[in-house]
Amino acid sequence: MPFSAALSPLPVLILGGTTEASGLCHLLEQAPAFAPTLSLAGVTKNPHLPDIPVRQGGFGGVEGLKDWLRNNTIRAVIDATHPFAATMSQHAAKACAELALPLLRLERPVWHPTAEDNWQSVPNLTAAASLLADPTGYGKHPLRVFLTTGRKEVAPFCAAPHHFYLLRSIDAPDPVTLPPQTMCLSARGPFDYAAELAMMQAHHIDVLITKNSGGYATFPKLEAARALHCPVIMVERPPHPICARVETPEEAMVWLQAHQAASTLRDV
Ligand code: NAP
Repeated sequence: MPFSAALSPLPVLILGGTTEASGLCHLLEQAPAFAPTLSLAGVTKNPHLPDIPVRQGGFGGVEGLKDWLRNNTIRAVIDATHPFAATMSQHAAKACAELALPLLRLERPVWHPTAEDNWQSVPNLTAAASLLADPTGYGKHPLRVFLTTGRKEVAPFCAAPHHFYLLRSIDAPDPVTLPPQTMCLSARGPFDYAAELAMMQAHHIDVLITKNSGGYATFPKLEAARALHCPVIMVERPPHPICARVETPEEAMVWLQAHQAASTLRDV
């Protein structure tokens, strides 16, 4: 049944913190069939906010999330958190299963290497740091490392303190978590290829360490690494709960519209 303005909008929760979540929120700004709320963890200072209701801060675990979903009569949840935000996804899956709420995972595709790339995959940041500390490999000589793994995940690299680290993050890191030779760059994507190439050349980068976040905004550093024949240590994504999945905000809208229609049919 097509949406009629006379029907009440469907309350939906978007768990955000990504470009995809922002894209979906912008689509929902123009969609009167829905009453969306965007939820942010509240970790990024001055986030870009859409023109829909926004709440910030943790829910207080699965029980807190369930309370919030019940209190706000939410009818569908979109988990559009970052591919590496594994805890929030687990909590969303558990809360939605227990409340019998439909859940959709909106997640951008992973990056794949081409034949010209020199990537080494590792399962987590500790494994990446171990590679850098390995005296028979990357740890043999001091290197200049470009680290784009996030300001809160630098501590493991203290295990390889003889390298120089160029750390790029949106907000400044806590200095006590940093390896001794760390230079911090504060910047928010999107980044472009020419600037990434020039920056990596200027800092004489020997190795790039990044999470396999996917998407376009931060991909140019990998193109620059390719052009410079710079090896990449690629931290792969943690596992996520099994649920319905899409890759784009537009596909998420289609899913939401299907649920809105099904929900309307149930209610009439
Ligand atoms: P996480 O480890 O999965 O979550 C840690 C806790 O933060 C969760 O248990 C939850 O607290 C709270 N939380 C996370 N996302 C939330 C949201 N959208 N709304 C309300 N509470 C949220 O997440 P993280 O890796 O710390 O990432 C935090 C946020 O930054 C996420 O929203 C994510 O999309 C974004 N982000 C993460 C990365 C990354 O590399 N991890 C990169 C870019 C953006 P409670 O248990 O109290 O509910």
